[in-house]
Amino acid sequence: MFESLSERLGGVFDRLTKAGALSEEDVKTAMREVRTALLEADVSLPVTRDFVKAVTRKATGANVTKSVTPGQQVVKIVHDELIEMLSGDNPNPGELKVDSPPAPILMVGLQGGGKTTTTAKLAKRLKDRNGKRVLMASLDTNRPAAMEQLEILGRQIGVDTLPIIPGQDAVAIAKRAKQQAELGGYDVYMLDTAGRLSIDEELMTQVERVRDVATPRETLLVVDGLTGQDAVTTAENFDSRIGISGVVLTRMDGDGRGGAALSMRAVTGKPIKFVGLGEKMDALDEFHPQRVAGRILGMGDIVALVEKAQETLELEQAERMMKRFQKGQFNMNDLRSQLEQMIKMGGMQGVMGMMPGMGKMAKQAEAAGMDDKLLRRQIALIGSMTKKERANPALLQASRKKRIAAGAGLDVQELNRLLKMHRQMADAMKKLGKMNKSGLMRQMKG
Ligand code: GDP
Repeated sequence: MFESLSERLGGVFDRLTKAGALSEEDVKTAMREVRTALLEADVSLPVTRDFVKAVTRKATGANVTKSVTPGQQVVKIVHDELIEMLSGDNPNPGELKVDSPPAPILMVGLQGGGKTTTTAKLAKRLKDRNGKRVLMASLDTNRPAAMEQLEILGRQIGVDTLPIIPGQDAVAIAKRAKQQAELGGYDVYMLDTAGRLSIDEELMTQVERVRDVATPRETLLVVDGLTGQDAVTTAENFDSRIGISGVVLTRMDGDGRGGAALSMRAVTGKPIKFVGLGEKMDALDEFHPQRVAGRILGMGDIVALVEKAQETLELEQAERMMKRFQKGQFNMNDLRSQLEQMIKMGGMQGVMGMMPGMGKMAKQAEAAGMDDKLLRRQIALIGSMTKKERANPALLQASRKKRIAAGAGLDVQELNRLLKMHRQMADAMKKLGKMNKSGLMRQMKG
């Protein structure tokens, strides 16, 4: 779902993600594309306008944290705003009011929107997940085939349907369903009202009368998610006449433009409770704003993305060092920053384990009890070297070693071990440097 929208936004944010710094002009450019993308996805103009305004305001004044790129920051703002727009104050979309049995659920919508299918899917869900005894009744007196369809689905999912009595009108069937639900000890009874190809007075009057008889706990509008703006208009109409408690968007498995989901909440103020994801009886999911927002952006989990930014930063540092190593440069300063990194990243083992060819050394390090304390002593040793000695460890002869060890309050043996480690690492670095650089980075990233 949302293929075209996600691709579109994906392109915009790819560019932003790569940008080093984000100017006001960048935000503007990105927002122009967001606006176009939303309109093309059939999000209504006022909703799009509000959305872009909100994101622009937040993005321009945003405090860009050090660990993420400004582009990622904007992506996150867009993401958060999408969720806000998709969910509003609807923390538990998949929850239905089905207390005080028998609880009536009224299913309304236009013909072909998926109302009957969704009625059965929901009944199955209530039975399987909530352990409810459910009774379904079709009120579509104009179309005997629709009544039979519900009966067939009921048998398929093991949910009872109200026996069909030809000639009864919708209100009479609703009353009979209520009676049957009470007598039969059902927890929930679902009324699948008749649909029409378009909204007309007769349909609305009939649904109104059924509503008044049943006093439903939930009135769910089932609309085809592929119809975009029309779905929102349908929802507005049904809500103003009947009063709906929530929306089920069907055909969200298709690659429609998906703008309906975005506008629905903003325009109608009614929550999307479920989405239909196929023709099968278990192809119904509660509405996940997070998932939909992520999909719209086409960038997966944004929170994970922002976390990833930190790693990227470290990777860039590593890359810079690799460039030095490639040239065969690995002096005491390099060793010191390696040791500091190790402390930061959870000790010798963690870091070396990540570096190609150093797994064995990591094990030795562990065996030798190389913990933080040791790393700090080594850093102290390097600290008591002169600038010249750090740049060129070959200068370190016996007298200099004594001075350095004494300066750090440690003995020469320990300094010798440090020097030996430096030599080993320098050798390893040299070998690494000869390897194809991109191949190496691939290994490190993998
Ligand atoms: P009604 O006239 O509103 O009762 O619509 P139906 O329940 O008869 O559904 C019409 C068609 O849409 C049927 O072929 C369903 O299988 C199909 N359908 C319903 N919901 C979904 C959905 O979420 N995804 C897909 N792909 N098809 C659906």
